[in-house]
Amino acid sequence: MAGVIPPPACSFCGALKSPETPLIAGNEGRICEACVALAHQVVCNWSRKKQSAALVDSLRTPKEIKDHLDQYVIGQNEAKETLSVAIYNHYLRLINQGKEQNDELFPLAGSTELEKSNVLMAGPSGTGKTLLVKGLANVIGVPMVVADATSLTQAGYVGDDVDTILHRLLEAADGDVRRAEWGIVYIDEVDKLARAGAGMTAVRDVSGEGVQQSLLKMVEGSQVKISKGDKRRGNGEEVSIDTTNILFVAGGAFPGLEKIIAERVSPADQRSIGFHSPAPVVEEKTSNELLPALQPEDFQQFGIIPEFIGRFPIITFLEELDVDDLLRILQEPRNALVKQYFQLFSYQGVKLQFTENALRIIAQRALDRGTGARGLRGVMESVLRKTMFDLPSKEGIATCVVDEDYVNDAAEIIVSEVLGVTPVPEPETTREPEDVCVQRS
Ligand code: ADP
Repeated sequence: MAGVIPPPACSFCGALKSPETPLIAGNEGRICEACVALAHQVVCNWSRKKQSAALVDSLRTPKEIKDHLDQYVIGQNEAKETLSVAIYNHYLRLINQGKEQNDELFPLAGSTELEKSNVLMAGPSGTGKTLLVKGLANVIGVPMVVADATSLTQAGYVGDDVDTILHRLLEAADGDVRRAEWGIVYIDEVDKLARAGAGMTAVRDVSGEGVQQSLLKMVEGSQVKISKGDKRRGNGEEVSIDTTNILFVAGGAFPGLEKIIAERVSPADQRSIGFHSPAPVVEEKTSNELLPALQPEDFQQFGIIPEFIGRFPIITFLEELDVDDLLRILQEPRNALVKQYFQLFSYQGVKLQFTENALRIIAQRALDRGTGARGLRGVMESVLRKTMFDLPSKEGIATCVVDEDYVNDAAEIIVSEVLGVTPVPEPETTREPEDVCVQRS
């Protein structure tokens, strides 16, 4: 019958337009809400596949990951190995998510869901915890964020709530939700969240436990709605982040943890019972000897709630650094402090040299500060301050030698002057001058 025009239909599924099924019209066709949702799912899958393919390219074996970490972090072999394996397994699991399994190799395929391998690290301040996690994120090429547990509060209280961490992770992923969902979150200073009274040096009151509770859901895996724009102003589009595949690493100094381990591992027959029993002859073990015996229950004893510990199935520790470690940290890592100052001086055409003894004193001073390797930079700055002040206004200096006396403030820095030669800015030209006159300036 002429003159009857059929109602417009969705060009994908053919659904007819009605008050219940509105259509979006384009130049050539129309689409219904159900097809938009389906298309969105397909597009998300594409970007997941692309991300997966990129990860397949960048995923290294645990040994390669550790080799990479070795270039930046001195010592800490146990932590490096544990983290390399955890990271490798985590991303291997993500890359293979939803893929067909090889039934011959693994007949239970489909019925087994691999759990996430979040890591809990204990180790004194300045021993390389943050450095290790940053190195891992670097080698895998995923976004990473460091959050300070002490700045977190339970939702509703003044301060940052735990969602702030995801907001920052999204920023680190340049706003790409898919990348953020495969990122790494390092929560530092979790020891400060310990329940008061449980550990020997637990610092925070009950609100610390409250923060542990608020972290649980996020660590386990949940959908969290956050704003893409400025969080405080509350503007910007809201997005939902699924935290199921985010790898969480928690770290802290846990002062006193060694004592908890010592009490657990020291055999009962070495403990004295009764008023007149002789004093026990227990050999004092160093913290580096005790830490390898670390068990999850030690964290519980410290004041971390069992639910929190349960969500971090992998535990590891970092050893206390000694003078020899600090000496190596000064010189060996790719961006070692000595190399950095060498470069700074070379920009002024000066070759900087340290004697072994001078470096040892610097390392010892940093150790005395009790802040691990973090203290090295401060000591180095104060040692070189005067020279760095004077040097730019002096002409013709070719070499500066920092020796023991200089570090001890007993002498001026030794400088070798090439008279009449002006500093050359290129670092390559700072090789040993042939004709130098060595003197104390
Ligand atoms: P924390 O254990 O408190 O997280 P960091 O990883 O932040 O310590 O270390 C602070 C700084 O000290 C690092 O930026 C790095 O320069 C240096 N550092 C600490 N430990 C090591 C290490 N084992 N090897 C090399 N450098 C280290």
